[in-house]
Amino acid sequence: LLIMALLLSSIAVIFYWNWFSARVSTDTLIQNGLKRKEFVPYYQVVIDCRTGQVVGQEMLVRWRRLDGVLVHPNQFIPYAEDSGLILPITEHLLEQVYLDLPQLKGWVSVNIIAQHLEAGLLSKWLLSHQDVRVKRISFELTERKPITEFELALAEISAASPLCHGFKLDDFGTGFGGFSYLHQLGINSIKIDKMFIDTIGTEDLKGAVLDAIIAFGHESNMDMVAEGVETQVQVDYLAAKGVYLHQGYFYAEPLPLDKLIHFYNNSPH
Ligand code: C2E
Ligand code: CA
Ligand code: CA
Ligand code: CA
Repeated sequence: LLIMALLLSSIAVIFYWNWFSARVSTDTLIQNGLKRKEFVPYYQVVIDCRTGQVVGQEMLVRWRRLDGVLVHPNQFIPYAEDSGLILPITEHLLEQVYLDLPQLKGWVSVNIIAQHLEAGLLSKWLLSHQDVRVKRISFELTERKPITEFELALAEISAASPLCHGFKLDDFGTGFGGFSYLHQLGINSIKIDKMFIDTIGTEDLKGAVLDAIIAFGHESNMDMVAEGVETQVQVDYLAAKGVYLHQGYFYAEPLPLDKLIHFYNNSPH
């Protein structure tokens, strides 16, 4: 029995040690990445399908490591959000967006989580950059993580809104707050998640949810952006339902600034 206990506890120690060192090294990797400015903004255009014109873009981070590897957000953003390292990453990205803005068309939206609001970081950053260009920055609040300090989040949205282009509720329909967040937080813009756009032209039952979201959006006077638009069939369906702002591979992938400018110059408008 004693040997068993010893064996089990040493296994536990080994497991804990592995978990602990994995954590420590990811932290260090991200912190080193920050120091070396390896986190770079990519931009994906949002198009008005009626005119083909660019109305704005979403900034999506890429981790361009010194060894040349390009790491996609799904591989480090969940970790950065859990560890709090997302806060310095976002600040670093905002500084780069600020520098890129004179070359961008329309608005640019930056992804945030509840923690940015609860810590009052956006209004602080906006106030320290009093320049007309920050009025073109908007923020996409994901529903992935619940808001825990509701009053603080609400106060921050009220403080930041007049200083910027406003807030959008991201991944609408997939997460925690949904309809109640919009009303309580005073957000009047939604991103319809790709999951729902994918149902267009299929037998998927979530297609009914897409129609309900669109009907709700019109009724409550929401600005709607459809994300993950990949096909002409989806473009036509959305346009017929009065959803005109589209983002997706059908138009363009997320691009680094130089390729984005090339896209501007080579698109019809
Ligand atoms: P998201 O906010 O829902 O962003 C849309 C994702 O869908 C992006 O993935 C984009 O590249 C991808 N996408 C756009 N159009 C299409 C399409 O037509 N087809 C397909 N298959 N995919 C499409 P990405 O860039 O890998 O980002 C993944 C997620 O990581 C984002 O999802 C966002 O939640 C998060 N993220 C990205 N950058 C940041 C950031 O700076 N801060 C935070 N907190 N999260 C970020
Ligand atoms: Ca987003
Ligand atoms: Ca989204
Ligand atoms: Ca999404």
